[in-house]
Amino acid sequence: MVYRQDGGGYSGRPREMHKAVCSDCKKECEVPFKPSGDRPIYCKECFAKRKDAGR
Ligand SMILES: [Zn+2]
Repeated sequence: MVYRQDGGGYSGRPREMHKAVCSDCKKECEVPFKPSGDRPIYCKECFAKRKDAGR
């Protein structure tokens, strides 16, 4: 009885991820919130970079 296939996702609460394109490096990434198209989306790296750069 092997019916437990990889259904994708982790056990626990599923986090909704949304595909987006980073406004900085134009790389495809996923964000845990819905991209509104209103504000720029940054991938993890660029987000960290910006945070690090400060202003
Ligand atoms: Zn980026």
